[in-house]
Amino acid sequence: ATPTALLVGTGRGAQLGILIKGPEVLESTRRVDTIVLDKTGTVTTGQMSLVEVHTADGVDERELLRLAGAVERASEHPIARAVARGATARVGDLPSVDGFANIEGLGVEGVVDGRAVLVGRLALAEQRAQALPEQLAAAKTAAESRGRTAVVVTWADRVRGVLVVSDTVKPTSAEAVRRLRDLGLTPVLLTGDNRCAALAVAREVAIAACDDTVIAEVLPQDKVDVVKRLQSQGKTVAMVGDGVNDAAALAQADLGLAMGTGTDVAIEASDLTLVRGDLMVAVDAIRLSRRTLATIK
Ligand code: ADP
Ligand code: MG
Repeated sequence: ATPTALLVGTGRGAQLGILIKGPEVLESTRRVDTIVLDKTGTVTTGQMSLVEVHTADGVDERELLRLAGAVERASEHPIARAVARGATARVGDLPSVDGFANIEGLGVEGVVDGRAVLVGRLALAEQRAQALPEQLAAAKTAAESRGRTAVVVTWADRVRGVLVVSDTVKPTSAEAVRRLRDLGLTPVLLTGDNRCAALAVAREVAIAACDDTVIAEVLPQDKVDVVKRLQSQGKTVAMVGDGVNDAAALAQADLGLAMGTGTDVAIEASDLTLVRGDLMVAVDAIRLSRRTLATIK
């Protein structure tokens, strides 16, 4: 009866929009008590838009958008898409980029019109350029305190501007988090984004603003360590993610759930794929596995 029930569970999963790697996967969901949620693209839509442009003294706004947009156009990151789309809308066609490089979890760089341009986190910019001018620092802090994400643009050793993008929480995320809690799971929000932006999203989905439930500014290679740390505390961990930067953590988790709308790398690293890219399906997946295993016993 055991294999049959598991296969029925797998078939029911497919009807619900849950792709299950193998019947044995349902088994590992039974003990899950903690669910780590990636922020961008998982809890939020990841459909960001460019909402503010701030230039350093003497920098032309169109020039800033042309150069930053040209580099970001080569990246698939939700922030990059927003910057490239916003720049195209404001300045038209973007120039081509040479020597493009993606610095995972930090930003992008490339040569445009003979200038080495960098777009990304302040920490990355600070390795290559002078400090952020005061008026840009103020704009960045103001945007982040509203839950927005600010990235820095540099070329020729100077910070030239700050671009602000804004994301929205998926309409079903808050209800899904509530139901995950009802199922006895502790939700943890995990992100590479700044703490202010993380806290703004946590508030919207009613995740407590504690150090162990909102974990921000985590580099991609360190996401897996967050999962390991929870496991070493005796937790059995499910992880839901969508990005390349989530793959290692998804593989490390006791149960990895990938958003079907996410990257192939994340899907390959996971045990379950949520076809619709909706957290409510994660609730269905956990319910289904519990029901299936109850049938077996
Ligand atoms: P998340 O963990 O929320 O999915 P990431 O790890 O992908 O976020 O990115 C973390 C941070 O790195 C972003 O908030 C941004 O500051 C910076 N970053 C990453 N990729 C880019 C990019 N293409 N352009 C600008 N900034 C980027
Ligand atoms: Mg993500």
